[in-house]
Amino acid sequence: MRKPLVAGNWKMNKTAEEARLLVEDMLPELQKMIGVDQVICPPFTSLMTIAAVLAGSGISLGAQNMHWEGSGAYTGEVSPNMVKEFCKYVILGHSERRAMFGESDETVNKKVKSAISINLIPIMCVGETLTEFEQEKTIEVVSRQVTEGLKDITPDQAPKLVIAYEPVWAIGTGKAASGDGANKVINESIRQPLEKLVGREIAQGARILYGGSVNAANAAEFFSQPEIDGALVGGASLKPADFLAIVKAAVK
Ligand code: PEP
Repeated sequence: MRKPLVAGNWKMNKTAEEARLLVEDMLPELQKMIGVDQVICPPFTSLMTIAAVLAGSGISLGAQNMHWEGSGAYTGEVSPNMVKEFCKYVILGHSERRAMFGESDETVNKKVKSAISINLIPIMCVGETLTEFEQEKTIEVVSRQVTEGLKDITPDQAPKLVIAYEPVWAIGTGKAASGDGANKVINESIRQPLEKLVGREIAQGARILYGGSVNAANAAEFFSQPEIDGALVGGASLKPADFLAIVKAAVK
């Protein structure tokens, strides 16, 4: 009943020209995949170019971050409206931003509220570090990130929300979580807290993705899990054959 969603997070890769070539290469095949929402998230500098390439294709564009304020003296930042001009989605609270750029549950919450207020769909990322995993704090940490990140979100604001469970130890390491392990974390520390925040109906309708070393070989294992509604894909989203295979695996 939840439509699968696969998003490619290109991180800090590709110039606008390189991005155009990559999307044009994948587009004919991606367009054949019906029944799965597809999102491409290139760097800010490529958004305008890729928006033109994707226009009318049915494939959506997403940004990788934004500021929560509408405008002002925030040198180097990009506002929600600037993102909205080109994008339907925005990745918020990615673990690389939490670890390297000081993002906290509080700033993620400001960004999520700001995105929702202008109808930009947040893909809010949560996930435990390796140390937290080893200390068996996964459920506690991820539940807190969900509850704090979505603080003050009302049920009527939540229907379009997307959450990505991305264990930090699985990102870019080639060591993906197991399908049933990720499914359990998603159920206990994302779906259940979400239900407390916004009610059962909305929580059951929210799409929750898995991210962390998803590739062509393991994607189907994740997509066969009842609580996993798609994937946030990093490295493999830059490889056309791999990304196409992942999107294909998500088609129900
Ligand atoms: C990511 O950056 O969100 C990610 C999941 O990366 P990778 O697929 O490369 O692990």
